[in-house]
Amino acid sequence: MPEGNTIHWLARVHTRDFAARRVRADSPQGRFAREARRLDGRLFESAEAYGKHLFHHWSGGLVVHVHLGMAGWFYRHPAPAPPPRPTVRLRLATRDVATDLIGPPTCELIPEFARRKLLARLGPDPLRRDFDPDRALAELVRRPRRTIGDALLDQRVLAGVGNIYRAEALFLTGIHPKRASGNVSAEEWERLWKTVRALMRRGAVRGRIRTIEPDEPPAHPLAGRAPADAFYVYQQAICRRCASPLEEFPMSARRMFACPRCQPEPRRGSKRRAKEKNGRDRKRRAAAP
Ligand SMILES: [Zn+2]
Repeated sequence: MPEGNTIHWLARVHTRDFAARRVRADSPQGRFAREARRLDGRLFESAEAYGKHLFHHWSGGLVVHVHLGMAGWFYRHPAPAPPPRPTVRLRLATRDVATDLIGPPTCELIPEFARRKLLARLGPDPLRRDFDPDRALAELVRRPRRTIGDALLDQRVLAGVGNIYRAEALFLTGIHPKRASGNVSAEEWERLWKTVRALMRRGAVRGRIRTIEPDEPPAHPLAGRAPADAFYVYQQAICRRCASPLEEFPMSARRMFACPRCQPEPRRGSKRRAKEKNGRDRKRRAAAP
């Protein structure tokens, strides 16, 4: 699934291709035909990204809202563009370039107030200038017992973070994904959002995700040369830095990866767990002959 970095990159490409131009709009697939007719030949003002949501602003206050979900994508064709495939939901075209949107779960024409309503449900976006980390922190501590790994994927905490960035940012800050949000200190939180933002900024340049620092020393000799070398832990078997076998476990219904040495798991010393253990010990003592 494209993460926020890709959506920001797409917004820049679309602004460059279409802003301040009259743009042809068409829906070869037919599912957006009525809306496309309203847009056809209208002035395209700008494209905007917020988290994983993309907005096209057209003259007259019309907004097209797109969410690419798991399988949606924009295909860009410099002129002369080939005839659109029958699956194209929306083709936007000028004399120079055409862009085909295929397979999005969401492509809708909405009024401006609906866009504002949608944004009000999202947390701050680390790639935007209006990013406010304190607002994210407030949402984080609202549910202190939730794991930090789960919280990072919640779009009400940080908009735009997906499965790859959460795994990589937690690794780089040495925080185990199963730590409770409430146990993450203010300093750790600052390191975490700064890491997320830096990784996503780098990924927004080309729309691709590559988290390994350009000046990172070579992988630990025991880690060998992983074929997919773009990530530290995501979909890896061995830690690039310490060569420990990585843990893999499901989290928020997605695959999660962590290094047991670089991201020590929280000690099982919480009051509730201690109480349970004492209870067990008492029973064991009582059952002993
Ligand atoms: Zn490690």
